[in-house]
Amino acid sequence: MLNKVLLSTDVALVCVQHALSTEKEEIMGLLIGEVHNNGRLVSIESSVILRRLDKKPDRVEISEEQLVQATLRAEELAAEVGRPLRVVGWYHSHPHITVWPSHVDLATQSMYQRMDSSFVGIIFAVFLTEQTTKAPSVQITCFQSMNEGSSQSRREIEMEIVNQNDSLLMNNFEILTQLPTILKEEEDEAYTNEVGHSQIDDIINKQHNAAVRTIAIGHIVEKMSRPMLEALVARNSLNSIRLRALKRQHQELMSRMENMTCNASK
Ligand SMILES: [Zn+2]
Repeated sequence: MLNKVLLSTDVALVCVQHALSTEKEEIMGLLIGEVHNNGRLVSIESSVILRRLDKKPDRVEISEEQLVQATLRAEELAAEVGRPLRVVGWYHSHPHITVWPSHVDLATQSMYQRMDSSFVGIIFAVFLTEQTTKAPSVQITCFQSMNEGSSQSRREIEMEIVNQNDSLLMNNFEILTQLPTILKEEEDEAYTNEVGHSQIDDIINKQHNAAVRTIAIGHIVEKMSRPMLEALVARNSLNSIRLRALKRQHQELMSRMENMTCNASK
């Protein structure tokens, strides 16, 4: 029985960033990783961001097609790193509401668990306010479903956020940078659908839809692309400083080693 989950820091970063992309709707994605110890431990090492199929506020659904695509992606990654990676779970956000899974979440989780007993669900509750300090906070829970007669209850799974090996680092950063593109695609799709439904000659309506889309894209750039760029630039300069320090250390150690070999040969 599954009793612990290790979540890689980079995946946590991608999921939280994704969850923070909208206050109005729940977002979701699939988790890729490895199952260890006969299904007692799951390590999550990458993720797949899923586009919302319909933008209802309380509804998250994964289509068969999305699941197949994620499975193929996991196979590609597995071949790349030479480890048995696969889809090991799903995540979604709870903007402004409690972190605990709803009845629908538990039923969805139960369905996946029937196919794969170590499958996990992770929920990121975002846009919460700390009661005492009023500071914005994020809560995370990792769960499975337990069947109790005809209904399900929640089984909390211990989760640890860990720095894992860097074999998928680049891949996880790529997912992060894809996020604004995926969000823009969703907006474009909403716009195209809206235009398709309205009268072609209704110029006011057209103007309105174009304006809504422009505002939405502006929002993505302001709230996501720019902060992400700033954070990545900062991380890059920090890494450059670290790199210089490591190079100096390397030089020092090399010269010390040379001295030692010189002394030894005397
Ligand atoms: Zn939910």
